[in-house]
Amino acid sequence: MTLKTILALILLPVLPASSKPVRALPSYDNYPVYTGNDLGVHYFHGKTVFKIWAPTASAVKLRLYAADNGGKALHTIRLFKANKGTWQTIVSGDLKNSYYTFQVNINGRWLKERPDIYAKAVGVNGMRGMVVDLKATNPVGWSKDKRPAQKNFTDIIIYELHVRDLSENPNSGIKHKGKFLGLTETGTRSPQGEMTGLDHIKSLGVTHVHLLPSFDYNSIDETKPDEKYNWGYDPLNYNVPEGSYSTDPYNGNVRIREFKKMIETLHDNGLRVILDVVYNHTSDTSSNFNQFVPGYFYRHTAKGAYSNGTGCGNETASERPMMRKYMIESVCYWAKEYHLDGFRFDLMGVHDIETMNEISAALHKIDPTIFIYGEGWSAGNCGLDENLRAVKANAAKLDKVAVFNDDTRDGIKGGWSDVKSKGFVSAAPGTAESVKFGIVGAISHPQVDYSKVDYSKTAWAAEPYQTINYVSCHDDNTLWDRLKISNPAASEPELIKMDKLSNAIVLTSQGVAFLHAGAEMLRSKHGVANSFESPDSINQLDWSRKAKYKAVFDYYSGLVALRKHHPAFRMPSAKMIRANLKFLPAGDPNVIAYRLNGRACDDQWKSIVVIFNGNTTDKRVELPSGSWTIAVDGDSVNEAGIRVINGPGITIPATSACILFQ
Ligand code: CA
Repeated sequence: MTLKTILALILLPVLPASSKPVRALPSYDNYPVYTGNDLGVHYFHGKTVFKIWAPTASAVKLRLYAADNGGKALHTIRLFKANKGTWQTIVSGDLKNSYYTFQVNINGRWLKERPDIYAKAVGVNGMRGMVVDLKATNPVGWSKDKRPAQKNFTDIIIYELHVRDLSENPNSGIKHKGKFLGLTETGTRSPQGEMTGLDHIKSLGVTHVHLLPSFDYNSIDETKPDEKYNWGYDPLNYNVPEGSYSTDPYNGNVRIREFKKMIETLHDNGLRVILDVVYNHTSDTSSNFNQFVPGYFYRHTAKGAYSNGTGCGNETASERPMMRKYMIESVCYWAKEYHLDGFRFDLMGVHDIETMNEISAALHKIDPTIFIYGEGWSAGNCGLDENLRAVKANAAKLDKVAVFNDDTRDGIKGGWSDVKSKGFVSAAPGTAESVKFGIVGAISHPQVDYSKVDYSKTAWAAEPYQTINYVSCHDDNTLWDRLKISNPAASEPELIKMDKLSNAIVLTSQGVAFLHAGAEMLRSKHGVANSFESPDSINQLDWSRKAKYKAVFDYYSGLVALRKHHPAFRMPSAKMIRANLKFLPAGDPNVIAYRLNGRACDDQWKSIVVIFNGNTTDKRVELPSGSWTIAVDGDSVNEAGIRVINGPGITIPATSACILFQ
């Protein structure tokens, strides 16, 4: 029986006898809403409570197993119907580490045997749930684990990383290759003697590590994790860590303990951790959602097909009460149980504004410093009006939720739709306003001409923390590859200048700064733009590049330190930015110059001038009166001062940044 037939069967009994539906859909609005917080499997020493929401079910079976796969069920238990569409059973005895599945019957048809959508532990490939005693999974010292200090969201500097990319390369010197535990190793070195892994991230100085999907996803066979690679944007069990990143995917406890150990170690090293979450679609429509309440968790087209605003074949329905509740409970679970410090919402523009704001409120009740951001766009036509969705244009309607700034990203390096197009750093005309847009943190500023900004013709951020400034991420070519492709005639030293200027803009702009892992050593994916399932040879970080491009790494880490030492680069409010960031006459359309009032920001520098020259020729810029000390030029960063300029002007070399202070 196809899913469509199942949907039709659910529909029939609720239709009035007089109607003549041909393709009528079930009215999900009529489904009961359960408001309790006890759905899922809850373990106690003497009993385990199993409770699911399946309002259209006519029967539900629970099967208990000794192992995570294979073998016959030890017990099969019928659940009884409880209130608001829930089904429940309580099994006495100590079920710790037992495996289980549910199976739902709808109008005589048994659906697939699966763990519940709330499962907290699973066995290999996520096909069976495990009754877990969460306390027993805590690593030593977990009760003392603390989030590293954080004052303002604008203090955040994000490092976007795939768990496996960090350690997989033999030259990483890391023992636990491709595993959560790889992020816990210290003292690791490349063959050239450079720091790798955690030591490397720490020395770069970023504040947050953003991990690409690390919940249980579908595409990697956990019995042979080395056979294939995937980014992980194909969710299976939302509340469980991915098994292929654990040292034992069969035992449901191991991935949980190792994930916690990773968080604890990163926290101990002063790094906060962000999880990439993908509630906007499921791996496919044979998902756990559809094995419990067929259709309900998804949006559909008028003709009854799955709506596909994600480009992945389906799109979830965050606006439906039980999906909204699911998302809120899921992120809160990660924040509380795993001490996560932030969430990056994949295709957030698919979700509705109200759900995102409720998520924000719930997470900030747990800890007001948790950071939430997402992609403020969808990947196709959505089944919900755009005015209601958490797209970039609606950022100001989101409360303490940030979005990626693609306007400035593409202004800096060139548009995403044409890989050969150039940007500000490669001397493309007409790109300066898109860069200025990011410099002010995407807020409204009297000196930005919004009509000339790449995509948005208006300031979409209400406050600077709402913009994630970046020039590259896991999607599309790496910055280095992109610069090479779009500037085929440029020499390597010229490309390096463009690269350094790109992230000098990001790391000095107002808002939240974001770096793609490896950019600090000119990461290459050999021209592969969409490497989501490319082999490790394309995706893994190549640590030999660190020694080769050491000056680039030093420049990046120098800029990160500069940003951390100088609050003028990370003002917490739009009001402060409007008052204390003034653009200066630059004398050339591809030169940007601005002055920061350091004194008003408690900065030890009372005045700062930042100049970016996007031209391929040197340009002279007039300086405000007085003597100025250069802290950053195109070559290096030195906060103590590279040299002093006694006005009235300065020559900025081609394709370079210059930061001066008084
Ligand atoms: Ca998996």
